Amino acid sequence: MKTAIIWPKETFIPNSLYKRYVFMGEVASSLEAYGEVKVLDLSVTNVSKRFLAEFVSGCHYIFMPVEVTTVREAVYITEYIRNYSKAKIVVYGTAPIYNPNFFARYFDIVVSTGYWTEILPLIASEQIDKLDINGKLYKLKSVAKELNWYYPDFSKLPMDEYIKISKGEVDLSVQIGCPFDCSFCSEKILHPHGIFVQRPVDNIINFINTYNFSDVFFDATTFTVDRKWVLELAEALVKNEKKIRWRTVTRVDQLDDEICEAISKAGCYQIGLGIETLTSSIQKDIHKEIGKHIMVGISCLKKYHIEPRLFFILGLPSQSLSDVNAALDFVKMQNFKSRWKEYIPLRETSKFTTFDQYDSYRADQFFMHFVEGMDRETYMRVLLKNERN
Ligand code: SF4
Repeated sequence: MKTAIIWPKETFIPNSLYKRYVFMGEVASSLEAYGEVKVLDLSVTNVSKRFLAEFVSGCHYIFMPVEVTTVREAVYITEYIRNYSKAKIVVYGTAPIYNPNFFARYFDIVVSTGYWTEILPLIASEQIDKLDINGKLYKLKSVAKELNWYYPDFSKLPMDEYIKISKGEVDLSVQIGCPFDCSFCSEKILHPHGIFVQRPVDNIINFINTYNFSDVFFDATTFTVDRKWVLELAEALVKNEKKIRWRTVTRVDQLDDEICEAISKAGCYQIGLGIETLTSSIQKDIHKEIGKHIMVGISCLKKYHIEPRLFFILGLPSQSLSDVNAALDFVKMQNFKSRWKEYIPLRETSKFTTFDQYDSYRADQFFMHFVEGMDRETYMRVLLKNERN
């Protein structure tokens, strides 16, 4: 069986790669038991028409991760590929999950939940008895409590480009699912059935000892929620001879002295915290009421010399210029690292029926949700200045 994974082209070079390592790198490893797997990331690799035609020729399946920002590109590239390949084109990723019937118009198979490293190998090996199939929509019949964990296949990823973008850091997924349900987040939709699991500690240590990377981003939803796992991992990292520098993300209300001390000793140098907004009424609207925990959690990190990195969202419903300025001032006064991202209400995409609706979510159409009192230039500058630092 010959398969290929193709990431559609984006307008801009990505500044975050965790989806590439997980959606493509770990997926590639999960497929390898069933034959040849190739990976092509068109958002960082420019290829000729001839190259692409040869790349897809002879493939039985082409797997394509699609985000809400790349819907049109995914359809265009699929139309081109169909001239040179009889492969079945399988879409997965965040966008198809919210609106599988829209994607069924253009692709052969639509994976309508997450768990890609479980379901894509079943599709590639045509084990259809394990799949719940409804027309073109495919999902797992049942989700096992213990999932398979794969390492990204670095040999297949465009690592020269990725390492330049991430300045030497690589990503490893260590957690799937989330016990919380913030209104703007896709985690519960990607991983339904209440699943919340961690990569086994010995599997993480084996990764560190197998690959020659000294900087790792542990891709998590809320890294510190499962205390037992966090403390076991921290202990194993301390005992392990090979040391790494690592960072991750968690909720600010899931930090305390014991956890912060343990992960600091284990090499954690930075934690990303989704603050989103400082306004309590908006926190309530987005189901993330963390107000009273913000300074407590941040102080705890600083006490153990872990750098907090704060994430905010621009364009939240009922957000005003004063809310944005309060957050900018807070970050500036405390000299915190921060990142702002435009609000992407993924749940609304479930009602989309046209490409034009998806176009408003493209990465080159930032100004999608106005902030009262904020002009376009200021809005764009907040996004650009605070993109990644
Ligand atoms: S805590 Fe984080 S991962 Fe969990 S639902 Fe909220 S935003 Fe998503």
